[in-house]
Amino acid sequence: MSEDQQAPAFSLDLSEDTRTMRDWVHDFAATVIRPAAAEWDEREETPWPVLEEAAKVGLYSLDFFAGQWFEPTGLGTPVAFEEIFWGDAGIGLALTGSCLAAVAVASNGTNEQIGEWLPQMFGGPGDIKLGAFCSSEPDAGSDVGAIRTRAVYSEATDEWVLNGTKAWATNGGIANVHVVVASVDPDLGSRGQASFIIPPGTRGLSQGQKFRKHGIRASHTAEVVLDDVRVPGHCLVGGKEKLDARLARLASGGAAGEQAAMKTFEASRPTVAAMAVGVARAAFEYARDYATQREQFGKPIGQNQAVAYMLADMGTSIDAARLLTWRAAWMARHGHKFTSAEGSMSKLFAGETAVRVTEQAIQILGGNGYTREYPVERMHRDAKIFTIFEGTSEIQRLIIGRAVTGLPVR
Ligand SMILES: Cc1cc2nc3c(=O)[nH]c(=O)nc-3n(C[C@H](O)[C@H](O)[C@H](O)COP(=O)(O)OP(=O)(O)OC[C@H]3O[C@@H](n4cnc5c(N)ncnc54)[C@H](O)[C@@H]3O)c2cc1C
Repeated sequence: MSEDQQAPAFSLDLSEDTRTMRDWVHDFAATVIRPAAAEWDEREETPWPVLEEAAKVGLYSLDFFAGQWFEPTGLGTPVAFEEIFWGDAGIGLALTGSCLAAVAVASNGTNEQIGEWLPQMFGGPGDIKLGAFCSSEPDAGSDVGAIRTRAVYSEATDEWVLNGTKAWATNGGIANVHVVVASVDPDLGSRGQASFIIPPGTRGLSQGQKFRKHGIRASHTAEVVLDDVRVPGHCLVGGKEKLDARLARLASGGAAGEQAAMKTFEASRPTVAAMAVGVARAAFEYARDYATQREQFGKPIGQNQAVAYMLADMGTSIDAARLLTWRAAWMARHGHKFTSAEGSMSKLFAGETAVRVTEQAIQILGGNGYTREYPVERMHRDAKIFTIFEGTSEIQRLIIGRAVTGLPVR
C-alpha cells in the first residue's frame, strides 16, 4: 500500500450537524444577541431577558453545551462559541460563563457530582441558573499557587469549612452553584489545592465588590467572600479518596498529577480562543463592509492599499487563529496531549489577534470608529479581556516557552 493510501483522512469540512448548529447559533446571535449588545454594555448588568430567550430555544442549556463539548470532531464548542461571540462578547460571556464551572466539575468530578450539579448551573426556561468558577484571588491571579482560601476537613461532621476571598469571579455571588478552588495543604502550594462545590443558598458565601469594567460589561464579575462556609464531604470535587491518594503520593515524593485549576484552564483554553475569534471576525466584517462603502477622495477607502492591506492582515490572522483553535480542540477531543502547549498557542494567538484586529477596525472607521454610535469601539474594549483572563498572554508564552524548550523558563 502506498503512503497516500495509508494516510488517515484529513478534512477541514465541518460535519452536516455542526454546520446546521452553526447556522442556528448564528441566526440567534444576529437576531437576538447583536441587537441587544449596546444596551447591556451600557447597563453593565447580566442580560437576563437574553438568557431567557436563549433558554427558550435551547441554546442556554446543559444539553446544548454538553452536546457540543462531546461532539465527535471536537469542533462543536469552538464553532458555537465563535458565533455567540460574533454576536456580542459581553452577552456571550453571560451565556457561556457557567461553562467554566461545569468544566471544572466535569473534568475532575465523579459521575454523581456531574449528574447532580451541572443541571443546577444552567436550569431551564423560566428558571435560569448560573455557575461560577472561583480560582483567582486578590493576591493570586497568575500565581495560582498563592491561593490563600483554605478548606479544612472536619471528620466529626464530614464537612469542609472554607474561608477566604475570591476575586474576579464571572457570575460570582449571583451564581446558583459556585466551584471554589481552595488550599487543603498550604505547604504544598498549588499541588495541595482542591475544588469544592458550594451548593445554592449555602450560608457564609456572599458577593463582595462588583467590578465595573472596560469591556464585556454585560458579564457580571465580582468578588466572592467565603466566611466559615460549610459544605458536606461529598462536595469535594473528585471525592476524598482521590484527594487523600494524591496527598499520600506527594508525601512519599511522588508526582501530584494535574492541579485542579490548571486542568480546568487547559481544557477551556481553545474555547476561550474561539470567543476571541468571534469578536475579531465581527470587527473585521464590519470594517470590511464600511471600507467598501465609505468614500473619500472620490473612491471607496478600501481601494487604498493602506486600507486593503490592513483588511488582508486582519482576515489572514483571524483564519490563522481559527485554525490553531480548531487544532487544539480537535487534539483535546481525540486525547492528544498538548506537548507543545497547543491549547495555550490558540489562546495566545487568538487573544492578541482580537485586540489588534478590533483596533484596526477602529482605524478603518476613523472618527466613527471611536464613537459609541458604531460597534467596533465596544468590540475593542471587549477584546482586551482575551489577553488577560484564563491566563494572560505572558503566562501563555511562559507555558509555550517551557513546552518548546523543555527548560524551566521563569
Ligand atoms: C473580566 C474578568 C473575568 C474573570 N473571570 C474569572 C473567573 O471566572 N474565575 C477566576 O478564577 N478568575 C477570573 N478572572 C481572573 C483572571 O483569570 C486573572 O485576572 C488573570 O489570571 C490575571 O491575574 P491578575 O489579574 O491577578 O494579574 P497578575 O497575575 O497580577 O498579572 C499582572 C501582570 O503581570 C504579568 N505577570 C505575572 N506573572 C508573570 C510571570 N511569571 N511572567 C511574566 N509576566 C507575569 C501578567 O501577565 C500581567 O501582565 C477574571 C478576570 C477578569 C478581568
